[in-house]
Amino acid sequence: MSFLKEYDSEIFDLCELELERQTDHLEMIASENFTLPAVMEAMGSVFTNKYAEGYPAKRYYGGCEYADKVEQLAIDRACKLFSCKFANVQPHSGSQANGAVYAGLIKAGDKILGMDLSHGGHLTHGSKPSFSGKNYSPFYYGVELDGRINYQRVMDIAKIVQPKIIVCGASAYAREIDFKKFREIADEVGAILFADIAHIAGLVAAGEHPSPFPYADVVTTTTHKTLAGPRGGMIMTNDEDIAKKMNSAIFPALQGGPLVHVIAAKAVGFKYNLSPEWKDYAKQVKANAKILGEVLIKRGYDVVSGGTDNHLILVSFVGSDISGKEADAALGNAGITINKNTVPGETRSPFVTSGIRVGSPALTSRGMKEKEFKLIANKMADVLDDINNTKLQAEIKEELKILAQNFIIYNQSTY
Ligand SMILES: *Cc1c(COP(=O)(O)O)cnc(C)c1O
Repeated sequence: MSFLKEYDSEIFDLCELELERQTDHLEMIASENFTLPAVMEAMGSVFTNKYAEGYPAKRYYGGCEYADKVEQLAIDRACKLFSCKFANVQPHSGSQANGAVYAGLIKAGDKILGMDLSHGGHLTHGSKPSFSGKNYSPFYYGVELDGRINYQRVMDIAKIVQPKIIVCGASAYAREIDFKKFREIADEVGAILFADIAHIAGLVAAGEHPSPFPYADVVTTTTHKTLAGPRGGMIMTNDEDIAKKMNSAIFPALQGGPLVHVIAAKAVGFKYNLSPEWKDYAKQVKANAKILGEVLIKRGYDVVSGGTDNHLILVSFVGSDISGKEADAALGNAGITINKNTVPGETRSPFVTSGIRVGSPALTSRGMKEKEFKLIANKMADVLDDINNTKLQAEIKEELKILAQNFIIYNQSTY
């Protein structure tokens, strides 16, 4: 980063501080990850200078011969990765991808049925503050007190609501999603089935979570969560008609010029996801989340649904004095970054909550395995057991910093 250092030392210094923060803390936010230096290099490439409105071989600007190749490579790799026929790699984010699904397939005011935000769904699944809840008529299903989706209940709700689109996929759900059951529900009411695999895509790509194909009509994902690629979104389908609608919904309906540098970085990320190492990574992500849950249960904590099938766990403090907000702050003081989260049987406000969400993808990317996760889970329990003990938090922070520094993210010359 020598150009940046010379030209803008303020931003350079903040990059340095952020690298230090990422290095010294244990990143356990379930939606975060560390991408490859090669991905970052592509993101910082000359393709940031290029306008390429349109799609490969159908552009509104000249000079797109290399941009076309980049985008086509990204599309081909995405289709190979998820075994599907069509992919749109232009969405600037997961939310933009979801916006295109609604904009392309239904009309304003149409009914959508998604997972309640407070039960693990995403804002874009019909939540009131989001465009999805404002422009459409949202209805919700949730989880039972055991933290699992009851598919019969979803069926009952769908029959009453008669939605145009059913959204499945979540941001805070620790169990496998049964896409086949969702297909049956969608068929029963004649709805389009939309799977949002933003959180689990990396596991799906590795065969470590069932695929939404062939069940879902349309699938969206982010590329920066478990996929460990650059920040961005993507839409996939096997239906040519839907593919065309998605293309025009992204451009020109919702977005202008694609971020060709990010599309290049997506292609690099997919190359990693297609490699044999990726399967090992995804397996390790699951193994690490599993042991995290097991240790916390052993230490007396209520892990929602009794464990996990994926990359995250939810811990519930319902019925205890601890709130999610306090747990978040205490763990933060101990160098462990997580987020507070609503949990089944929630009694507190979304700003306080009675739970936390903890994920394994980022630390797994740093090379940590069961041994480290076991140690970290025990430290988490130590902090939670004595939540007002700031001296203990400071001690643990120092210990964990040494552990973290042994698992290098990027060396100085690669970031
Ligand atoms: C993260 C997430 C999104 C949105 O992704 P952004 O890139 O943050 O817009 C959409 N859906 C689900 C299920 C998510 O978890």
